[in-house]
Amino acid sequence: MSAESLNPREIALQQFEKAADIMKLDPGLKEILSKPKIQVTVSVPVEMDDGSVKVFTGHRVIYNIARGPGKGGIRFHPAVTLDEVTALAEWMTWKTAVVNIPFGGAKGGIAVDPSKLSVGEIERLTRRYTAEIIKIIGPEEDVPAPDVNTGPREMAWIMDTYSMHIGRTENAVVTGKPGVLGGSRGRPEATGRGVYYVAMRAAEHKGINLVGAKIAIQGFGNVGSHAALFLHEHGAKIVAVSDATGAVFAKGDRIDIPTLFEKVQETKSVVKAAAGMSDVEIVENVKEGNLRVLTADVDILIPAALENSITSDIMKDIKAQVIIEAANGPTTPVAEEYLVSKGKLIVPDIYANAGGVTVSYFEWVQNRQGFYWTLEEVRERLKIIMDQSFDDIVRMMNEYDVPMREAAYILAISRVAEVTRMRGLYA
Ligand code: NAD
Repeated sequence: MSAESLNPREIALQQFEKAADIMKLDPGLKEILSKPKIQVTVSVPVEMDDGSVKVFTGHRVIYNIARGPGKGGIRFHPAVTLDEVTALAEWMTWKTAVVNIPFGGAKGGIAVDPSKLSVGEIERLTRRYTAEIIKIIGPEEDVPAPDVNTGPREMAWIMDTYSMHIGRTENAVVTGKPGVLGGSRGRPEATGRGVYYVAMRAAEHKGINLVGAKIAIQGFGNVGSHAALFLHEHGAKIVAVSDATGAVFAKGDRIDIPTLFEKVQETKSVVKAAAGMSDVEIVENVKEGNLRVLTADVDILIPAALENSITSDIMKDIKAQVIIEAANGPTTPVAEEYLVSKGKLIVPDIYANAGGVTVSYFEWVQNRQGFYWTLEEVRERLKIIMDQSFDDIVRMMNEYDVPMREAAYILAISRVAEVTRMRGLYA
């Protein structure tokens, strides 16, 4: 079996074990950190619009809370399994630790295709799922957030259901809420903004001037489009972008990203958005467009769409010197090993896309204080955290002489391990 087709839980455990072995982690701590703290599977009965009843299966996994409450999204997707949710909860544990915010890691999900449900059915599903997991979530226990196919609307329902159960309004139980319910300023842009801050540091590290650097971005959704916008404003040249509808390439110096960004908000497609623009080439074939974006002659490549985009099939054609993993898991282990051996810098997902969870943390802090920050304050504080984490990871790269992914894992694991060791084992 190729490494590309491994179960996510196995991949997560392999990554953990590799780093744990390099850092010679104490065997007892290794045993503790390789297991989830709590796994809950619930049946979620929902009355459908036609009066029938369907029972969906949901999970919530709290992987680790040594450093603070659980933190992680809730996804609605037919492929959700307990193994997948556990792997994602483990990754959240390392993600919060790598940026040193006082949270653990958690994740939730329901095996459902929400596009087949009405809004009313989705609301009843979300509220009943919340009621089923209510004993383990809470501002001090575990704080959910949006993930695949969930957003501010679902977070509002979760917050309301939780508040009804405890008899008062508690908005710090979830993050990613609508602004009027206590959502943070700058949350929608946060992950892309974080990717921009990461790009500044990664370019500097590789001796690339970000002003004028050529960049290709796969995925022009929340993360990819915001990263593109901030990088363009900084003076970088975004020359290639793709999404699920095709790809767009600059015929001249760079793509006019602010115009594309604006139009994509209405059209939801880079192909449709670029239709009226001058100096661009449009490729409607998704496969061909993606391949050309990923192998474009650029300095920096930002995969911001899907997992397993950079595989052994295309690794030899990648020209970028820096790959910033805005998406989760875009590079397969085989491709990573090859690219690193060619001297390329792969900035790992657990750090590269941590801007989102960092601003989620800011949202939780603001909710608990009842005091709200300006957009500028959010951006400034996010930059401080992303910069500090970059320095911390580079320190580990030098200390252990390892690539950036292992360094980020070593940093994260050492933070969780230190807290676990100091607290000792309650018996
Ligand atoms: P999104 O749904 O807003 O955007 C996804 C983009 O990928 C869209 O432009 C879509 O068209 C594109 N896409 C889908 N299939 C594609 C294909 N076959 N080829 C090319 N493009 C394709 O999602 P998002 O929030 O921007 O998330 C993107 C990635 O970043 C995911 O891996 C997600 O897990 C990760 N991430 C997101 C956040 C966040 O705050 N939104 C935080 C951390 C990590």
